[in-house]
This record gives sequence, structure tokens and C-alpha cells, in this order.
Amino acid sequence: MENPYIVEPAAITSIRQETDETKTYTLKFVERERTLQFTPGQFNMISLLGVGEGAFSITSSPLQKDDFEHTIRLVGNLTRAIDRLAQGDIVGVRGPYGTGWPIDSAKGKDIFIIAGGVGLAPLRGLINLIIERRNDFGVVEIMYGSRKPDELVFTSEYDKWRAAPNISLFLTVDEVPEGFEWTHGRGVVTNLLGLSKIDPANALAFVCGPEIMMRFVARSLTIRGLAEENIFVSLERRMECGMAKCGRCMLGRAYICTDGPVFSYPEVRSLPQNLLAASF
Ligand SMILES: Cc1cc2nc3c(=O)[nH]c(=O)nc-3n(C[C@H](O)[C@H](O)[C@H](O)COP(=O)(O)OP(=O)(O)OC[C@H]3O[C@@H](n4cnc5c(N)ncnc54)[C@H](O)[C@@H]3O)c2cc1C
Repeated sequence: MENPYIVEPAAITSIRQETDETKTYTLKFVERERTLQFTPGQFNMISLLGVGEGAFSITSSPLQKDDFEHTIRLVGNLTRAIDRLAQGDIVGVRGPYGTGWPIDSAKGKDIFIIAGGVGLAPLRGLINLIIERRNDFGVVEIMYGSRKPDELVFTSEYDKWRAAPNISLFLTVDEVPEGFEWTHGRGVVTNLLGLSKIDPANALAFVCGPEIMMRFVARSLTIRGLAEENIFVSLERRMECGMAKCGRCMLGRAYICTDGPVFSYPEVRSLPQNLLAASF
């Protein structure tokens, strides 16, 4: 990153509706040819003049050089305003910020990728990077859960993921509407671990979703024999500056924006508030 304070205009070049409340935006810097150099798991601060600014994970693969993507769920003021934007509209972008998934430590290893809801956003770039560098990694199992089938994101890519060698995609939802044809799992995402063929002794896990979900996933993975230091989670905390200046996202001495958002499980356990520390 050249100057972390500079907000650069980026144009929306396409919009894909993922669910009723979630869209994926493809963005391209307008004022100069600039490639966003990042590691999957990092985030940008996206702003709209007169509305506000928020943290959003970069969801495209870093090998996609001409543009980059964000998947944004409508929850409040800023995301409502972003939801009203159209192709050709401009947003402000600064970043990338934060830590990414430790991809180099995953070389030669099997990988669990476990997500809930829009928590798949920071992992999608990692999945697509793994597919592009397939020989660098072992078996990959993607386990993804949402509340309902129509809340799953990136459905248009599932066939590509399934077609990649040694990658399995397991889906589960909490509820299936009556009459809806659903051939995948039902219930919480941890149920999917029963389908795993990965040997936890040579594996890493990358996990993102609601904190309660990450807590139970981490617990189930350690019970299966995955070492705590091989479990990585991404924490979402409200943040303002993204640069460890304002203190908005601090937990104890940790700035979630720069020490995270990706942390190893032992790092998270050492934070105050006992985050993810289930009673086990
Ligand atoms: C590192 C990081 C990465 C993120 N990546 C994504 C992403 O890829 N896609 C995406 O849709 N969202 C992502 N978020 C969340 C996103 O930043 C917020 O949803 C957004 O800023 C909300 O802005 P708003 O003005 O629309 O909502 P507000 O009007 O500010 O809030 C609406 C509601 O959402 C809650 N909320 C807002 N921000 C957060 C937050 N950070 N954590 C928990 N609850 C919150 C508020 O408490 C409130 O209930 C990420 C957050 C972080 C910290």
C-alpha cells in the first residue's frame, strides 16, 4: 500500500445479486492503473461521500489483477446506500488492511475451509487462489452453512469448486422451506465434519462466520485432533480507521484491524472477553 490514508475512487464495473440482501461488486480504480496487492482475508475500507465508511473483505483472488471484488450484505445505513448503487457509480476505497490467511503455512497440507453466511466472503478469494495453484496444497474440504438455501452466497461458483481436483464442497442449512428441493445437509455446520476424510494431523483450518459458530467449529476441530495453532479464524469488530489509530476495534491490547482480522485460535483465546473460548 502506498499511502494508507488515501481514498481512491473506484468504479463499479459489474454487480451480481447473490441473495436478497447480498451483492458482489466488481470494482476498478478509475484514476490510474493500479493493481490491488493483497492476501485473501485482508479487507478494504469502502466509503460513500456523505454516508460513511465500512470494512469489507476483499473477496476476489489476488491473481485477478485488473479489478477486485467485494460481497456486501445490507445491514444498515452504509450498506443500504451501497445497495442502491448501479454499474458505473463510484465508491471510495482505501486499503488493503489487516492480516490475511497464512497461505504459505498451508502449502503441502490438507485444508478445511469452514464458513457460515456471508463469512464465506473472506474465504472465496482463498478458495479460488487454491484452485489456481492446485498443486501447492493437499485435499481441500469446504464446509459451508447458512440459515436457508436462498441465503447461500457464491452459488454460481460451486460447480467450478466441485470440479477442481481433490476439493469437496459440503453444504448445510438450518431450515428448508416447504416444497424446496434440498439434497444437502441440515443443521449446524459442525455436523459436516462427520463427512471429512482429512487427516487432522496434517491439516489447517480457515474459519469465518458468526462468533458462536466459530467457537463450536474450533471446538469440534480440536476434538478431531487438529492442533489449536493450526486453526485460523477471522474476527469482525466494528472499526473506523483500519490502521490501529482510533482504538475502536481494540480488544485488550490487540487491534483487530491490524493484528487481525485473521488470528490463530491460540491468539484469539489470549484476547480478553474469552472470545471463542467455549466452556470445554
Ligand atoms: C474486517 C471486517 C471485514 C468485513 N467484511 C465484510 C464483508 O465482506 N461483507 C459484509 O457484508 N460485511 C463485512 N463486514 C461488516 C461490515 O463492515 C458492516 O456490515 C458494515 O460496516 C455495516 O455498515 P452499515 O452502516 O450498513 O451498518 P450500521 O448502520 O452501522 O449497522 C447496522 C447493524 O449492523 C451491525 N454491525 C455493523 N458493523 C458491524 C460489524 N463490523 N460487526 C458486527 N456487527 C456490525 C450494527 O451493530 C447494527 O446492528 C466486515 C467487517 C469487518 C470488521
